[in-house]
Parts: sequence; C-alpha cells; structure tokens
Amino acid sequence: MSSDPVYRRVLLKLSGEALMGEREFGLDPAIVNRIAEEVKAVQRLGVQVCLVIGGGNIFRGVSGAASGMDRSNADYMGMMATIINSLAMQSALERVGVMTRVQSAISMQAVCEPYIRRRAIRHMEKGRVVIFAAGTGNPFFTTDTAAALRASEMGCDALLKATKVDGVYDADPKKTPGAKRYERLSYLDVLSKDLKVMDASAISLARESNIPILVFSLFKPGGFADVVTGRGLYTIIT
Ligand code: UDP
Repeated sequence: MSSDPVYRRVLLKLSGEALMGEREFGLDPAIVNRIAEEVKAVQRLGVQVCLVIGGGNIFRGVSGAASGMDRSNADYMGMMATIINSLAMQSALERVGVMTRVQSAISMQAVCEPYIRRRAIRHMEKGRVVIFAAGTGNPFFTTDTAAALRASEMGCDALLKATKVDGVYDADPKKTPGAKRYERLSYLDVLSKDLKVMDASAISLARESNIPILVFSLFKPGGFADVVTGRGLYTIIT
C-alpha cells in the first residue's frame, strides 16, 4: 500500500484530555512527547500540519459556570487552559526538531503570536507546525468549533479528530461488545443521530466548508500517519 499522503494540509484536533494520559488532571509529558512524534512523522511526509488543542484537562467553562462563576469569565479561563496546552505541545515538538509557532486568538504578545490567518498559512508553507491556541477567542464556543473554523480559514483538506477509539461507533465500544464502527457517515447523519463526534456547530461549519472529518485513534502508534496516507482505521464524515 502506498505511503504517499492523501492530504496536502490537515488540521489535527486534540482534546485536552488526550494529553492527560492516565492522570486525573493536567498533562502527562510522556503522552505529549509521543503525540509530538506522531505529528513529526506526518510533517516529514510533506504534509502541512496545524493543531487545535482543547483545555478540558485543566478547565472547562461549563464546570466553572455550574459552580456559580460568570460563564464568560469561566470560558476565558478555559481558553487560557488551551494556551497552556499549546505551549506544552510546542516545547515537545521543538524538542523533536519540528519548528512550531503558537498563534493565540487572545493576544498574549510576550508568549506567542496573535492569530493572523495569512501568517499562519505562510508558516505552514515554510514547514512549520502552527498551533492555534485560545479556541475561537470567544466564550460560549468550544475548541471543536475552533478546529472547524481554523480548518476552513486555512483551506485544510481534512480535519482529523483524535479520540480514544478508532472511529465513530453506534454504541460505546468500551462498554458495548459488538458495537459497530461506521466506515463513512454524512454530516447530516452525525447531526440527526446525535452522534457524539464533535459539537453541532463544528459539524455544520465543516459541512459548509466541505471539509471531511476523519475520526481516528491517537492511541495506536503511527495512527496519525496511517490516516493521512489513507491507511489504518477511521470513520470519514463527508
Ligand atoms: N473555550 C471557549 N471558546 C472557544 C474555545 C474554548 O470559551 O472558542 C473554553 C470553554 O470554556 C471550554 C474550554 O475553553 O470549556 C476548553 O475547551 P474545550 O472544552 O473545547 O476543550 P476539550 O474538550 O477539547 O479538551
């Protein structure tokens, strides 16, 4: 089977929890380093890569609001959490020799670049991985929506959503033996069946921009490169 990439430019969405490993909270450096190797493998194939990282391993706005905090403020805290994760991933990537730029939707000049669409594209053309931090920069949104938004703005050929399992199933495969994995779904299937892939606004935006969403497992070593070269197991949403 060919190991040539099928995609020219991709956005990888990682949830904050993906960086947590077995921990209850925060970051597991071993996991962050392993993901950096996965990204490096894809970048070395000549694929332009950008990342959106969540913040759920540190703080989620809805939890803050549930305990009485102002929702917008809580969401800003969540966005700060994504900046922490993005900086951790930048360090891990640069340690394995991948040049990286973090661009934040909330300006934090001393720490990273502000989000500038054309500059982000230029970075990728020069072979740098761009990490988009602080989600969309707006409260009441999620980093899933930020992923669909940045993938649209960057003209990505695919949005890859890393999960704990190798695709979208009709039931939780960890709890239901015999749960069926979908090979292919439509955006409308995901919305009408209320499949928990990404939130509805992210799916709608990807649909509008005609960007396929590939759901795959980041737990399988080499999984990211496999998906980008059209191998491995995943569910494609088109
Ligand atoms: N967030 C936000 N606007 C955005 C993206 C994120 O307000 O555009 C906040 C929101 O509070 C969210 C938190 O940042 O709970 C962390 O992001 P998310 O829950 O999407 O992270 P993940 O579930 O992917 O780890």
